[in-house]
Order: sequence, then C-alpha cells, then structure tokens
Amino acid sequence: MKCIRCKQKAKILLKRHNAAFCDNCFLYYYRNQVSKNIKRHRMFDKKDRILVVISGGKDSMALWDVLIKEGYDVVAMYINLGIGEYSNRSQEVVEKFASVHNLPLIVKDIKKEYGLDIYKLSKTLKRSPCSICGSIKRYLFNKVAYDGGFSAVATGHNLDDEAATLLGNVLSWEEGYLARQAPVLPQTHPKLIKKVKPLYTLTERENLYYVLLNKIEFLHEECPHSVGARSILYKEVLNRLEEKSPGTKQRFINSFLEKGRKHFQDVAEKLELRECKTCGQVTTTEECSFCRFVRICNQQEKQQDV
Ligand code: SF4
Ligand code: ZN
Repeated sequence: MKCIRCKQKAKILLKRHNAAFCDNCFLYYYRNQVSKNIKRHRMFDKKDRILVVISGGKDSMALWDVLIKEGYDVVAMYINLGIGEYSNRSQEVVEKFASVHNLPLIVKDIKKEYGLDIYKLSKTLKRSPCSICGSIKRYLFNKVAYDGGFSAVATGHNLDDEAATLLGNVLSWEEGYLARQAPVLPQTHPKLIKKVKPLYTLTERENLYYVLLNKIEFLHEECPHSVGARSILYKEVLNRLEEKSPGTKQRFINSFLEKGRKHFQDVAEKLELRECKTCGQVTTTEECSFCRFVRICNQQEKQQDV
C-alpha cells in the first residue's frame, strides 16, 4: 500500500476517501481538512480570537494543537465538572499541555466557583447527569466567550459524533435539534457567540492518529456517564454501515447539510430569545437553567446548615 501523495510506504488507509497516506502526508491531509473546513464555512480567520473548548480527550487536544500550528489566536477553556477522578485526571492532562507549550488556559471549577453539584442536581431535578452537564457546559462556554470578547467558540466534535447525533435526531424527528445541527451556528443574538466545529469531517480514528503522531498526551478513558449512552449504540450501527459502505457517515452529514437542514430552519427562527432575569445571558425562559441550578444548590446548602 503506497501513499497517494508521495508514493512512499503508506501507514494509514482512509477507505472513505479511497486513499492511503504515509505519516507526513497524513499530517498534511489532516491540517488541510481543518483549514478547508474553517475557510469553507467562514468559521473564523487569523484576526479573530477563538475560545477552544478542551475536555482532555483526543479530539479536543487535536483541535487545540492543530489550531495553534495553523497560526490562529486561541485560548483554551477547561471545565472541571466534578465527575470524581475522571475530572481531576482530565484537568491534569490539559494543564500539563498548556504549561509545557506555554499556552493560555482558562479553568472553571463548577463546585468551587458556583457551588454546583451535578449529582445533587440530578437527584433533585430527576434529570440525567448528562443533561445537567450539557446545560452547564453550554452556558459557561458562551458566557466566558462573551465576557472575554471572543469571536467564536470551537469544539472538537468529529464526523462520528456528528453522524451519531444526526441519526438520533432523525430517528425521533427532533426538529429543533435538526435546525441547529451544523458545522457553524451563527450569532443569532448579540450575546450568543458563534459556535464552530472545525473537525466535523475528520473521524475519531483520524484524530487519534493525529495525537499519536504528534505525541500529544490525552485522557484515554471516557467519562463514566458515557457508558451505555444511546450515542454509543448509534456509533456502533454507523460503524457497521461504514464498514460495508465506506463514506456512509460523510454522505449522511453532507446530504443533510445540503438538502435536509433547510427544511427545519423555520423551527429555529420561531424560538423566542430573551435575557435571564438574574445573569442577563440568553435563554428562552425567565431564568436560565444555570441560574436555576445555582439557586437550587444554594438552597440545599442552607438547608444542610440549619
Ligand atoms: Fe457530561 Fe455526560 Fe459527557 Fe460525562 S458523558 S461529560 S456527564 S455530558
Ligand atoms: Zn441566568
């Protein structure tokens, strides 16, 4: 198997592109994909300041590294969600990378800074830890980006994530989520910062190969709450399809973006946005869910003190 670019011995085969690459040419392909995605969707340019969301996993670590190598002005942000040892170990990985490469990093600890406890909230509100965690993350990324004057928030969502999310949303025709599934979510309110996914055409396997080739440390373990998640089942199903018919995931995403997504836009436009009475951030209710969470946790603390 020869590299399609330089004709040397290939190390990785990408069936969906009918291509094989040696290590050097793979890195060229990877950076080129990221760069093309950023330009094609006008995600940001070299004048913009970008807040990159880092979890310590391979995808976000790859994104952080590639954006720096491509010369973008990035600041990383990590949130300690209080998920036991998993959160502590991921914070260590992220802090080490920032310190070794002398990179700016913002760390938010939801317990220390806001008194938030995902597990107590999950019990009180009878909601899964993931739904609470998701709301907290979305709130903090946007708030930090808005307060810090950033142009965009970039996340490490990859092709496997996007295809699995799309499959889940299509299976139950989640019109609101389908309207918002895109590589770029533009600014629809002065306080809602643009969200971008520069890795949306790259697979988990390609991100893994990128971090291994660049000797980037990352947290190998997944969050304990991801075990049994439906998204994992969707990924397994899509992997089987991909095995039989390479390119299925890419076609699924691309054809949705080209032909499907426009049919859901009126749902997105109908959402009435307002500012939270407590913090002023954008929400669809009187009080945003983050402020509600903080209020509930404070009340629980007070009751314990009595
Ligand atoms: Fe949060 Fe759930 Fe993801 Fe864990 S798996 S980081 S709890 S959303
Ligand atoms: Zn609020």
